[in-house]
Order: sequence, then structure tokens, then C-alpha cells
Amino acid sequence: MQTGSMRIELATAPGDPARPNEDWAATALPAAGRGGVLVVLDGVTPPPGNGDCVHDVPWYTARLGGALTELSGSRRDIPLTEILAESIRRTADAHRDTCDLSHPRTPQATVVLARWDEEAVEHLVLSDSALLLESPEGVVRAVLDDRLDRLPSDRLVSDEVADAVARNKEGGFFTAAADPSVAGRAVTGRTPAGDVRALAALSDGASRWVETFREGDWAGCLALLAKTGPQGLIDRVRELELADTDRTYLRRGKTHDDATAVYVEL
Ligand SMILES: [Zn+2]
Repeated sequence: MQTGSMRIELATAPGDPARPNEDWAATALPAAGRGGVLVVLDGVTPPPGNGDCVHDVPWYTARLGGALTELSGSRRDIPLTEILAESIRRTADAHRDTCDLSHPRTPQATVVLARWDEEAVEHLVLSDSALLLESPEGVVRAVLDDRLDRLPSDRLVSDEVADAVARNKEGGFFTAAADPSVAGRAVTGRTPAGDVRALAALSDGASRWVETFREGDWAGCLALLAKTGPQGLIDRVRELELADTDRTYLRRGKTHDDATAVYVEL
């Protein structure tokens, strides 16, 4: 890791300008030292008219993301899985009295959480968002929670269909909702700080560049982020979506999804 400046860029775009963006992202830097935190959440869109929660997805992601940002920054002694569990608990407490949190459609989100300091980069990934780690030699590792891909269903089915298959059920895939124990299902790891030159977090609306359109691999995706920034990646995804008029790549998927990318050069 070089001493000196740190580059952090963040961009997000709603899939549909008429609907609220259900992605949520934040970065935080300490006033002293070389540490930092990034959070990317992708709220799961519930089917209309379902659920016994008076709150919408942006309400949920703002509270969960706020708790994750605060706790991962202020409690560096606590592992990320416990940070996630406590953040879910805190968010659940905020609507336990008004809403039925046991309902399968209770608001929920995918999670990418990363925290770095002089010693290490810690990460946590739950459900289908992506975290990329680039070594000083330019080798890029994608940290993915691939449980969703192992389902016997098309990756590009709607949230509603995937939901019917297996959301938060044994053998299915897991998102942050109201049960803190889901934190134990997350993919986590710790990399020595000297082995990480850059990192990036992508919601699945942005990782389409790799996973849907196959414009390049994860290393190519990180190179594009370094060159054009997160907004450049999202702009390119939007171009690809609009160009896919015969649905070669999108198939039955929605044309645009909320897309968020955070890029950090240490
Ligand atoms: Zn609620």
C-alpha cells in the first residue's frame, strides 16, 4: 500500500427514473489513519401488495446501511459478521412494534461490506452483489456469494420468481432481512493490506457488465472502473442494455436495474 492519497469514487443510477433507487451505498474514512469502510446494499423489490410491513425498501436499506457504516467504522474490534448481525438487529428493532418481521416479504437486501486499515482488508458478501480485490501485480479476485447461481433456475429470472424458489430458506439463498443469524451465511475474508491495491463493490445492476453482457472479465471490469470511474461503468451498462433489443443477453430480465459501483484505490 502506498502512503499518501486514497481515491474513492461512487456512482449509482436507478433502473427506472420513476421509481426509487433501491440500491444504497456509502463510504467512510476515519479522521486519522489510513482506514476506511465501504457499504453497498441492493434492496430486494417485493411484489406489490404483499407483506405486513408499513415501510418501503429505501427505508430499510437506509437504516441497515447507516448501522453498517456506523458500526464498522466505530467498532473496529468487532468482526464484520457481528457488525452485520447487530445492524440487522438494530434495523429490526426499529419496526418490530409496527410490522410483522416474520413475513417472508419483510424488507431485505444483499450486502457488500469492506473495511480496511494499515494491516488488512476485511470483506463480507451476502447474496448477489460482488466485491473485487486487486493485487499490486494486477491480479483481480472476485468475491461472490454464488448460492443464487446454484439454484436450479435462471439467474435472470425476476426477483419474484427467485423469491418463490428459495429466498432465506435452507438450500436457497440468503439476504439481510430481520433475522441477525443470516450474517453467519455471508462469505467473509481478510487479506493483508499489502496484497490489495484497489477494491470495488458492485450491485448486480452494475456487475451485468461481466455477468450478463460478458464485455470482459472481472479484471477488465476493474480496469474500466480505474479508467472511467463508477459512472463510466454504469453508463456502459446502460448502452449495452439499450442495444440488446433482441434480448440476446437480457432474455427475460428487466431492461435496466438499479446499478451502483464503488471504486477504491488504496
Ligand atoms: Zn416495517
